[in-house]
Amino acid sequence: MRGSKLLGMLVLILGALGCRQDSAERLVILPKDHPLEFALTYFPEYPRNLVGSGTVFTVEGGIRQYLSPWPPRLLDRIECLVDGQVVRTLQPTDLWQKFPFNTPYIQPFPDRWTYYFQCDVDRFGVPGRGKKVVVRVWQKGSAVPMEGEVEYHYDDADLSQKALEFIRGPMTGDVPGNPDRRTRRLSDTTVYVKNEIPGMQLPIERALNQYMSKWTGLRFIFTDREDVRPLLIYRNGPGFGARGVEWNPNNIYETWKWILELGSRTTHNPDDLYGEMVVICHETGHAIGLPHTGCDGVFMDAGSASGSDCGRLRLHPYQQMAVKMVYSKPPGYSWR
Ligand SMILES: [Zn+2]
Repeated sequence: MRGSKLLGMLVLILGALGCRQDSAERLVILPKDHPLEFALTYFPEYPRNLVGSGTVFTVEGGIRQYLSPWPPRLLDRIECLVDGQVVRTLQPTDLWQKFPFNTPYIQPFPDRWTYYFQCDVDRFGVPGRGKKVVVRVWQKGSAVPMEGEVEYHYDDADLSQKALEFIRGPMTGDVPGNPDRRTRRLSDTTVYVKNEIPGMQLPIERALNQYMSKWTGLRFIFTDREDVRPLLIYRNGPGFGARGVEWNPNNIYETWKWILELGSRTTHNPDDLYGEMVVICHETGHAIGLPHTGCDGVFMDAGSASGSDCGRLRLHPYQQMAVKMVYSKPPGYSWR
């Protein structure tokens, strides 16, 4: 017993070390003497950086400045470019305030005054491999931007293949007692939402309408009614969790009603909006049929609900495509 516990701990520690080293090697800080510093975090690699038509590729980064309590005031704008064209422009107000994750794994700078940005790219130019999203950070009064880049592959056929592997593997194949690899999903792509935690309305609304919908193509409608289906009910609980409580008696793969427990917090904490939305997306992800992913830079990391540094407000494009494929087929469809 003790031996297996020790082994388990060792595996955990090695896993954590592996993660940290992975990102530390990819740290880019350009240039060092610039008043405002900038870094891209957690560079995606294949197949995480594989994109296709109708998907969203999220590039994350951070800025900081040692002496300034509010670095975004030094910032003019951040631009993301594809094939030399600006596809997204961020304003200082688009930056995230600090949030309580503080490990080298995701922090470009181990410093409390770090502010994050997410650049959503959904236009990828001409299909091809080895393409780049160039990120330009323009400081106020500076004629030369700081620059970083992330490689991506734009290949619709490859994306569909990876999505299919994700469905056949983590989504259905790794589930015990599912030899036919049938997918469990909500009964419709229009999903009703009843929120029983009024103080958490803002993060729930934003997580669903601004994030989940763009990744999955599902539409979320808030309601006070309980006689509509499919229905997700968000409420407080002793912990975090997603529980399917009603399904089609003639097709157990078609779920109708879920209870999603978001811990004991009754009011939204502005300093932790990012973390709150990761948790909300995670539990919602269970309801729509997503599996845990491990430490993979998306919100379905198993530790997301407990504030793991792995859980990010992001869903990789091949996983987005997997959800869309699942919802293009009826519940219980066999992917064998
Ligand atoms: Zn979970």
